[in-house]
Amino acid sequence: MAMRVYNSLTRKVEDFRPSNPEMVTMYLCGPTVYNFISIGNYRTYTFGDFVHRTLLLNDYKVKYVMNYTDVGHMTGDNLGDADIGKDRLEAAAEREGRSARDIADYYINDFLKGYDRLNLLKPYKFTRATEYIPDQIALVRELERKGYAYRIADGIYFDTSKFEKYGQLSGMTAETIMEGARVEPNPEKRNPADFALWKFSPKDEKRWQEWDSPWGVGFPGWHLECSAMSMKELGETIDLHLGGEDLRMIHHQNEIAQSECASGKEFSKYWMHGAFLQVDGGRMGRSIGNQYTLTDLDERGFDPLALRYLFMTAHYRSPLNFTWESLQNAQNSLKHLYDILGGYKDAEKAMPSDRHIANFMDVLNDDINIPEALAVCWEMLKSNLGESVKLATILKMDKVLGLKLDDAIGYEIPQEVLDLVKTRTEYRKNGIWDKADLVRHQINDLGYSVEDLPDGKFKVRRKL
Ligand code: AMP
Ligand code: ZN
Repeated sequence: MAMRVYNSLTRKVEDFRPSNPEMVTMYLCGPTVYNFISIGNYRTYTFGDFVHRTLLLNDYKVKYVMNYTDVGHMTGDNLGDADIGKDRLEAAAEREGRSARDIADYYINDFLKGYDRLNLLKPYKFTRATEYIPDQIALVRELERKGYAYRIADGIYFDTSKFEKYGQLSGMTAETIMEGARVEPNPEKRNPADFALWKFSPKDEKRWQEWDSPWGVGFPGWHLECSAMSMKELGETIDLHLGGEDLRMIHHQNEIAQSECASGKEFSKYWMHGAFLQVDGGRMGRSIGNQYTLTDLDERGFDPLALRYLFMTAHYRSPLNFTWESLQNAQNSLKHLYDILGGYKDAEKAMPSDRHIANFMDVLNDDINIPEALAVCWEMLKSNLGESVKLATILKMDKVLGLKLDDAIGYEIPQEVLDLVKTRTEYRKNGIWDKADLVRHQINDLGYSVEDLPDGKFKVRRKL
């Protein structure tokens, strides 16, 4: 079955047809790097990872970009007015007594560690908003040239009434979108939904991050960066744009408005939104302060992959309520899976079971149904297939599950390979690198690989 995805733009499950079947382009709105990433944030990036891996399993090549927001995201509510309040990075710099750049570097580094621990595949590029300032300025100039931008006291704004399709994604009109917002809209705006493209630095304040522009010293509005980076790195029309469900109503709507008005082309063919990780039935959010981080999990002895497993138990469009008990259950299931695989004796190289792989792909291709995919995986393990076939099958499935199952497998490495590994180690100790390399090739030819680890250690694996 070809891939089908729920497109938030049309509110339908649609066949996935990329513009260029040779290369799918995909963008995901990444974190604002002003404090530790919560496990709620990671639910969204793990959802992105499942989409990415499913595309790869379907033999697509994928050009995937994720951004870091390191400027312009204000403390105002994402669902109310994201243009008011203080820049989150500037506020963090004040809080922690170091530069905004240091803040961003520090939390990006932390984010990447968690990203690896959750076994999320790296995108083609992580893009950083402050490294695309000229592109953002150029985009505002283009919008200004075409008559979509206007100036008020605190910045340059986008006139949403000039974009007919405004509200298509959110299902709201420019007039109604701000109704119910918890904050007073800026009275100078022409329409309540209008949003900042460029904000002027406050006169009485020296910001850590500000730039010259044709309109004066200032910084880009939050929504602008994603349009500029996506169009620059992936082209004016991309295939897939992803993010958490809170971004659908305003942030993504605004990205569409400014990109399509500037380019005259459709911005993204498909929009996918991941539901929240919740606590006590409400959103887990950094701005709310009820978040947990991977460090909290470490302190209680949980493996990040148990969290990955927990994410798999709910469809990405369903909310998932986080409890320590549910995480414990996920960790138990994962351990059980590892124990089963650890007990397998892998006598011969086998081919995966076609039937199970076909079932697995069918459910994944039906709007990334990971919980069903996990069910297929367990059903396969309980079947009467031989152990070697089960191993081959589950390792193929793990290309999407991403649970590092190959580490758990207890296959025996033949003596011949172990001898070669010993010889290679001797050569390496004595600095005879060319011979060591030759032996490594021999090991590879026998279907095994040696991975060198720090401190002279290594790991021998059967090649997948
Ligand atoms: P933020 O923390 O606002 O910078 O959000 C960064 C990304 O994480 C956005 O795509 C959000 O939609 C997403 N996100 C934030 N909180 C959650 C949550 N509780 N569950 C899932 N995704 C979230
Ligand atoms: Zn974005």
